[in-house]
Amino acid sequence: MSESLETYRNPELAERRLLTEPDHFLDYMDDQLNVPEWVFRDVAQNRSTASCEIAMPDAVTTTLHEVEYRMEEGRRRRVIVWMGYTATQMAEGGRLFHFSAPAFDRVDIEVPAAGFVEENLRPGVAQPFVSPAMTRADASLALARAEHLGDDDSLQVSTAVTNRHGEVTHRKFQSLLVCGIPFPAWVAMFKDPGNIFGRSLPLRDEIHATSVMELFAQMELPVEMLPEGPISLVAAVLPYVQRIDQKAYESVSEQLVRFRTRQEFYAKEAERAGVEWAQFDLELARSLRTGVATDALRFFILQNGHDWSEESLRILNAHELDDAVYTVDRELAALLARAKQKLLGDKLCVVTDNEAAIEGVDQDVRDQIKINHNSIAQIYNEGYDLGRIRQLEAQQYALLHQQVIRSGGGCSGNVKTAFNELQRHGLNELGGVGENDNPFKSAESSAKWTWKPGNCRVKKCPSPKPTEVGPCSVCRHCQREFDAGRDPTK
Ligand SMILES: [Zn+2]
Repeated sequence: MSESLETYRNPELAERRLLTEPDHFLDYMDDQLNVPEWVFRDVAQNRSTASCEIAMPDAVTTTLHEVEYRMEEGRRRRVIVWMGYTATQMAEGGRLFHFSAPAFDRVDIEVPAAGFVEENLRPGVAQPFVSPAMTRADASLALARAEHLGDDDSLQVSTAVTNRHGEVTHRKFQSLLVCGIPFPAWVAMFKDPGNIFGRSLPLRDEIHATSVMELFAQMELPVEMLPEGPISLVAAVLPYVQRIDQKAYESVSEQLVRFRTRQEFYAKEAERAGVEWAQFDLELARSLRTGVATDALRFFILQNGHDWSEESLRILNAHELDDAVYTVDRELAALLARAKQKLLGDKLCVVTDNEAAIEGVDQDVRDQIKINHNSIAQIYNEGYDLGRIRQLEAQQYALLHQQVIRSGGGCSGNVKTAFNELQRHGLNELGGVGENDNPFKSAESSAKWTWKPGNCRVKKCPSPKPTEVGPCSVCRHCQREFDAGRDPTK
């Protein structure tokens, strides 16, 4: 197992996970560094789903995937298309994001499950896919968590969307993460002839999560049976949870109530976060293409100039040229992607009142973060005052850096329970590892932003002679300019 966890530290795998969306953009980028509208829309939708996963564990995500007909080996085949790939190809691609045999076993089921939906999607029928968290028969908890498969059950429901001729044009794909459902409750439900499916479903065994995943082809239901999509699946398994574990029953009941409220609000915030995140991904892709950081990324680096961790500064300084210009390769791009993910997730946890993640944040700080969040949206809508937006962003980042916010884990309590287990393996969960590594100094750290003698990197700097510079080699004057949303190099 230690070998597998070693692989988890593999920077290449972490970079691949972090740069998936910038890589999508690069596939479609033209010579003017632009991408087609539909590519941006698809990436923003992916990011919207990801925002729910890192910050809004109670949100149901809904995406629409196009249905197409292709000729394959002389036969007309129906496919579901997403980002230029078919659902089956996408599932196959999931392999790239894992490193261990038990995770690959799951991909081996996800591929035919995707193919099943491509072939059988039809009006009036809901197709659930239940992927419970790994059980201890599947893998150790540490390995399961390193694969991001340790805590949440993933519930998905596919239904058909038709045009006015009754032809299937899209798949509606709803997805939800739920935690704390004991695996035996799933087993009990599927075995019960009185279950939602109206018959007992044959499980290969009763200890592996994969034995439940394998049931995908036998779980079709009339759509009326799942009026709330994946939430209805949680409601269906709840009585079985109650028979097995009273404490789990209380936790899942509470989640069910939260799932049923505030979905509209979550959807609105997720959509906005998706666009913000995709815009950042596009800046990363452009910078990777030209090899030089775009203005937006330079600002991002300098807006957070006070708060990068030592390890992050080492990477940043190695990429720094004169005039606050940065060269960009995959190492730096991955660092910035990780930083954006952390800040966006932290902010969303506050905005959506994710209590488990923000319990340590004072009420007045929460209020201020929400005010900044809404002000930035308002400025975007009223016309584009970039300087003002950058100034507010810098303030928002500074506020977030002073808090300990636990975005990234779906279910409440994950982080704390993961802590000891992972620490035993030398992995510090609070700081994170791999793509979850926190690129900023923690609020609890005693490390202080220090000014050292040096030359300001900004060529037009009014005090270019040896003066005091911060960690990003910018003097006090120029740092103030960046913080205020102005560019002293221009
Ligand atoms: Zn300066």
